[in-house]
Amino acid sequence: MNVTNAEFVTSGTRPAHYPPAELPEVAFAGRSNVGKSSLINVLVNRKGLVRTSSTPGRTQLINFFRVNGSLMLVDLPGYGFAKVPLAVKKEWGPMVETYLSTRPNLGCVVLIVDIRRVPTEEDQLMLQWLRAYDIPALVVVTKCDKVSKNERARQAAVIIRTLGLARDEMAFFSALSKEGRDEVWARIEAILAA
Ligand code: GDP
Repeated sequence: MNVTNAEFVTSGTRPAHYPPAELPEVAFAGRSNVGKSSLINVLVNRKGLVRTSSTPGRTQLINFFRVNGSLMLVDLPGYGFAKVPLAVKKEWGPMVETYLSTRPNLGCVVLIVDIRRVPTEEDQLMLQWLRAYDIPALVVVTKCDKVSKNERARQAAVIIRTLGLARDEMAFFSALSKEGRDEVWARIEAILAA
């Protein structure tokens, strides 16, 4: 995808806050600090479009970004941050599940996991939701620059096994080297076109 324009549209916690469901939507989910903001920023060629989640105490929001006037990227709140207040943690499940289960124009969810970690129960829960609601998923394995080729293959096998993935549901990525950028876009576009 040749991104010529990317802009913040709006943010909110519930359907009344969402923008009109006029464009195909791709949502991004993952554990806090996994590299979600970095992935979106690389995809849209904009260093600071999506800010990183360094202040986890605030109410978390769903953020909508329009790309080329033709596609919406949706940054879902990250999960699994130990320091998040309980009240904020409790809001996360209903907020995200409501979005996933009610958004008619949602065409794909990108679930981001770290190449160095075993996927968590929350990662597994996210995939279960996507399967339950029949939403196509792409698992992007990020921070690949941090491991050797051998380590990558070993960890990929762990991730595939833990999440029960087909090989074509997964793509490797690095925000540092930008490895995988074109492939992630190509996979997203193929899923939206299917
Ligand atoms: P978020 O909380 O999921 O949005 O995560 P961020 O995008 O803010 O990334 C969290 C930290 O990981 C930051 O310090 C990033 O610079 C770093 N990071 C993100 N992606 C990569 C990557 O692909 N490679 C490396 N080496 N660091 C990354």
